[in-house]
Amino acid sequence: MQAKLAAIVESSDDAIIGKTLTGIITTWNAGAERIFGYSPDEAIGKSIHLIIPQDHHHEEAHIQARLARGERIDHFETVRIARDGSRIDVSLTVSPIKDMQGRIVGASKIVRDITAKKRTEAALLQRGIELARSNQELELFAHVTSHDLQEPLRTVHSFSQLLERSCGENLSEDARVYLGFIVGGVKRMQSLVTDLLSYCRISTTESRLRSCDCNTLCAALLEDLNAFVELHHASILIEPLPTIVCDAAQIGRVFQNLLVNAIKFHGSQPPNVRVFSSESDSEWVFSVSDRGIGIAPEFFDRIFIIFQRLHTIEEFGGTGIGLAICKKIVERHGGRIWVESASGEGSTFHFSIAKTAIPST
Ligand code: ADP
Repeated sequence: MQAKLAAIVESSDDAIIGKTLTGIITTWNAGAERIFGYSPDEAIGKSIHLIIPQDHHHEEAHIQARLARGERIDHFETVRIARDGSRIDVSLTVSPIKDMQGRIVGASKIVRDITAKKRTEAALLQRGIELARSNQELELFAHVTSHDLQEPLRTVHSFSQLLERSCGENLSEDARVYLGFIVGGVKRMQSLVTDLLSYCRISTTESRLRSCDCNTLCAALLEDLNAFVELHHASILIEPLPTIVCDAAQIGRVFQNLLVNAIKFHGSQPPNVRVFSSESDSEWVFSVSDRGIGIAPEFFDRIFIIFQRLHTIEEFGGTGIGLAICKKIVERHGGRIWVESASGEGSTFHFSIAKTAIPST
């Protein structure tokens, strides 16, 4: 048994070190030699300070005090020093060793080299910071560009109208058609730019959290959408909804986009839409369900990406930003958005809102 244990200790990748209560090294396995570069002869009998950098000496007193109380130290992440002076990120597990009478006489220390893990963590953190910065820059760029693009678009729009008005009668039939294309193109560009601007504004505007009765919110939305609802002969059922803490203007936007889509993407029958909710301990889940044209599963992720549409503008109007806006708002509220659907079978969009919603930028 003893021999088996010794073999396990020797073959371990980790450094396994025994020491007295006063910090004198008593055992030193092959893992310790590999990590720290000292042979057992060089380490045994020396103080454990041999592998503790000067600026971490204070930790040892703390470890000793806990050991003396019979406590074990688990996965304590710190730094140790090798023979060649290199600093090594390590995770320490230190347990007291007791004699036959149960008195604490020393400690065994398992030291895991976590340099590679730390390096990966640091690289990931750095990548995250860079990604956030480049996202911010990109958003700022989109914000500035879409803002600046509005001015020349307005000019093209008003001069096309002026041309139509002042020379309309002198224009040939072809020229009038071309002018119509110009105005149509400008209008489309204007709605893209306006939507892009509101997409960017979500993260540049500070969220205003307050208690919001979703029944009142949806009732007000339906009033605003009245003409659209009537145009499509849509029937909309809003089931009782909870009062939640959120940025009401933003969550209103989510409901509005989902309702408009549920009406817009109807099939041969008039739209039939149901809004309902459920809850778990940590979140509310709101659902907007329709019996429209549905979405094939391979597009479930794509539709939430900005400007991604599954239809031509002639089939269904829109800019392809609505769901990207919904996603951004919901994620700012600590939630997620997803769809359940099948082609021709209607769709149900769900979004969750954390009960402790803290919008993040
Ligand atoms: P838009 O409605 O302006 O095209 P959205 O971002 O709101 O942009 O939606 C992206 C695409 O997702 C739509 O073009 C459509 O193809 C699909 N989609 C969204 N909602 C529905 C729905 N309720 N039923 C079927 N398809 C939908």
